[in-house]
Amino acid sequence: MDNQWVLTLEARCCECRRLLFKVTVGALRGLVQIKCPRCNACNDVRPDGPNQPRQASNGTGAACGLR
Ligand SMILES: [Zn+2]
Repeated sequence: MDNQWVLTLEARCCECRRLLFKVTVGALRGLVQIKCPRCNACNDVRPDGPNQPRQASNGTGAACGLR
């Protein structure tokens, strides 16, 4: 199995949408905080598992994260 197709997610900055990093599905288990090198915005990236219900409680910066 050399070329196993792996689904990668892209984490982009909330502010300027710069690509912060890529990660394979399942590689993230918890919250990752990363500061954007371009606009210095702090981004919280959470793993978005398929079985995880969306937590849209405190509406701050809801739409950013993994895609
Ligand atoms: Zn940015």
